[in-house]
Amino acid sequence: MIDLRAMFGLESTTLSASVKEKLAKHYKTIHVSTDQMFAALMLLQWVGGVALALFITPLTWIGAESQLHPHVMMAVLGGGLLAAMPVLMTIFRPGTLATRMVIACSQVLFSSLLIHLSGGRIETHFHVFGSLAFLAAYRDPRLFPPATLIVAADHLVRGVWWPQSVFGIVTASEWRWLEHAAWVLFENAFLLIIIMQSRKIMLELAIHTDRLEQRESELENAIQEADRANRTKSKFLANMSHEIRTPLNGILGFTEVLIRDRQNIDDEEMEEHLHTIRRSGKHLLTLINDVLDLSKIEAGQMSIQSVLCSPHQIISDTVSVLRVTAAEKGINLDYRWDSPVPDTIKTDPYRLKQLLLNIVGNAVKFTDQGSVLIVSRIVETDSNANLHMEVRDTGIGIAQDKLDAIFKPFVQADDSVTRKYGGTGLGLAISKKIAEALGGNLTVVSRLGQGTVFSIDIAAGEISHPVEERELQHHPGADIKGKTTQSHDLHHLSILVVDDGDTNRKLLRLLLERGGAKVRLAENGEVAVELALQVPFDAILMDMQMPVMDGYSATTRLRERGYQGEIIALTAHAMSGDREKCMQAGCSGYLSKPVDADELYRLLGNLNLKPQDSTSKSSSVEHRESERSEPAVIHSVLPTNDDEIREIVLEFLDTLENKVVEMQLAWDAGDMDALSQLAHWLKGSAGTVGFNCFTAPASELEKVAKVGDTFQASGPLKTICDLKRRVVL
Ligand code: ADP
Repeated sequence: MIDLRAMFGLESTTLSASVKEKLAKHYKTIHVSTDQMFAALMLLQWVGGVALALFITPLTWIGAESQLHPHVMMAVLGGGLLAAMPVLMTIFRPGTLATRMVIACSQVLFSSLLIHLSGGRIETHFHVFGSLAFLAAYRDPRLFPPATLIVAADHLVRGVWWPQSVFGIVTASEWRWLEHAAWVLFENAFLLIIIMQSRKIMLELAIHTDRLEQRESELENAIQEADRANRTKSKFLANMSHEIRTPLNGILGFTEVLIRDRQNIDDEEMEEHLHTIRRSGKHLLTLINDVLDLSKIEAGQMSIQSVLCSPHQIISDTVSVLRVTAAEKGINLDYRWDSPVPDTIKTDPYRLKQLLLNIVGNAVKFTDQGSVLIVSRIVETDSNANLHMEVRDTGIGIAQDKLDAIFKPFVQADDSVTRKYGGTGLGLAISKKIAEALGGNLTVVSRLGQGTVFSIDIAAGEISHPVEERELQHHPGADIKGKTTQSHDLHHLSILVVDDGDTNRKLLRLLLERGGAKVRLAENGEVAVELALQVPFDAILMDMQMPVMDGYSATTRLRERGYQGEIIALTAHAMSGDREKCMQAGCSGYLSKPVDADELYRLLGNLNLKPQDSTSKSSSVEHRESERSEPAVIHSVLPTNDDEIREIVLEFLDTLENKVVEMQLAWDAGDMDALSQLAHWLKGSAGTVGFNCFTAPASELEKVAKVGDTFQASGPLKTICDLKRRVVL
C-alpha cells in the first residue's frame, strides 16, 4: 500500500522510533536556526522601518510649525513591538511551534507596517511575498494559514477604511484585497509543494541514515564477534597444539625408545611403554572425535534417532568404561535409581551414552578423593516423562562466576585446569547441545573445593514396563565381569580383510591371526567381491573408503548377488549418521577406525559362538547389541504355571525366533512389504501372550516399513532383536 503520509514528507506511523527521532532532530536544527535568522531579520526590519519613516515622512506640519511625523513614532513603537516578541521567543523558546507561529504572524505584520510607512507603494507589497518565501525555510506548512489570513484581513480592513495606507490611493475597489489575497495563495501553493518535496527528502534521508547507522552497528558487532572468534580460535589452536603435542610426544618418544633400545628393555618395561603409546593414541582419537562432533553440531547436522533402549544399560555401560580409571584414582564410582527402573525409554542411545560418558568422565577426572555417584529417576507428568540423572562428585568444584562459561566451547573453568587435568573445553559444549537435542537440558551446581552436581534431563518418550527391582538389581562390578569374560578365541573363523591401506591390512591381519582366525586380504572392493563370491568367509571386514571400488558399492554388489554373510563396515567417519549409511548399503556390523582391538574381538567372538547357519548370518544389529553386558530377562505377564498357557507362550517363542530372522532377511533384501506384514503379526500376537514390550517397536516398525523407509526401520528392528534375546517363559 502506498504510504501517502510518507509521500508528502509527513511522518508515517510505520516509521521506526529511531527514524522518527532522527527526523525530529533534523527539524529541530532547522527550526532553531531559522528562528535565529528571523530574530535578526526582525531587528533589521525594525531599524529599516524607522529609517523609511524618517526618510519619507520625517516631519508633519501644523501651519508653519513642524513636528515629528506620527509614522516615525509608529515605526519606532510598532516595529519595536513586532520585533520584540519573536526575539524574546527565539531566546527563551527556540525551535518550538509557538515561536514559529509568533514569528510568522510578526513577519507579515511587519509587511503591513512597511506598506503603511511607504504610503501604500505597490513595490513594498513584494515584502509580503518575500516574507512568505522566508517562512518556507521552516518547512512547516502550518505557518501559512495564519500568515495568509493576516495578509488578507489587513488588505480587506485597510482597503475598506483606509485604502491610502495600503494601496496608496484615496479610493480603491472593495474587491482589490481579494486580488492581493489570490496572488498570496498562488505563491503559497508553490511554496507548499516545495516544502512537501523538501520534507520528503528529509524523510528519505532519515531512513537512509538510520539504515546506514544500523549497518554500521551490525558491522561493528560483526567485527567484534570476528575479533572474539579470532581470539578464541587462537586460544583454541594453542590449546589444541598443546593437547596434540603431549600425546604425540608420548607416542613418538616411546616408539623411538622401542626402536633404538629394544635389546635393553625387559618385558615389563616394554609392556608399560606400549600401554603409554596406546593411551596417547586413544587420547588423540578422543580429541579428534570431539572436534569433529562439535563442528558437526555447530553446522546443525547432528542426527538424532529415537529408539527404544534401556537407560539402565547405558548407565551401567558408562560406569563400566570409567570404573577402571576411577579405581586407579582410588575413588568410588557407583550408580543407583531413585524410581522404579524403566525397562526402556525412547531416545537416542548413542548420544545419551556420549553425553553420560562426558559428564561422568569429567566427574572422575576432576575428583581426586571421595566418590562419583549417578542418581537417576523417571519423572512422569500427565503429558510426558523425563529421565533425570544427577552426576554428583566430591571433586575440585567450579567457581560460581564460571558456571555459565564452562558450557561454551573451548572454555575451562580455570587455566590451570588445562595444565593439571588436560582437556580442550569441548566436552560440556557438546554435552549441552546433545541434552537439548534430546529434548532436555544440562545444568550444574557446584561449590569450589566441595564438589559438583551436573543434572541431565532428557525426554524419555514412551516408557515401557518398569522392571522389578530384583531383576535389575545393581551388582557393582558385574558389568566389568561381563566384559572380561568375552571370548577372544577366533579359531575356525575365516575372515576377509578389505582395506586399501597396507598398514591397516597388516595390523588387522596381526590382530585377527593372534585370535586364531584365518585371514585373507583384499586391497579394494572389486577384489573383495570376486573373492567373496568364490570362497565363503565367516566375516568380511570392509573398509568403506577405497579406490577402484569403495566399500559401499562392494557391499551393495555382494548383497545383490545374494551374499548373506557378515559384512562389517570399517570407517574413519566416527559420526552417528555414518553407521546408518553403512547399514543401508547392506553392512551387518560397524566398527569405527582406528579399530579398538577389544571391540573387534568382542564383535567377532560373538560370531564364533553361534552356529554357522543362516540364522547366525543375521543382521549385525544383534552383534552390536551383544557388545553390551548381559541384558535383563523379560517374562510373559501371563500365568505360565498354567500348562495350557505355558504351551501357547512356548509356541509363540518358537515362532518368534523364525519371524525375527525373516524380518532381518526382509530388511537386508529391502523387502519393506514383507517387513511390514511381519511387524504387523508381532504387534498383534506379542501382547496376547503377555509380551507387551514388543507392541511399541513392532507398531513403529510396521509404520516405517509401510512407507518403505529402510533407514528408519533399522531402529525398531534393532529393539525387537534385542528384546527377542531377552524374552523367556
Ligand atoms: P575439558 O574437560 O576438556 O576441559 P569440558 O567442556 O568437559 O572440557 O569442561 C569444561 C570445564 O568445566 C573443565 O575444564 C573444568 O574446568 C570444568 N568442569 C567440568 N566438569 C567438572 C567437574 N565435575 N568438576 C569440576 N570442574 C568441572
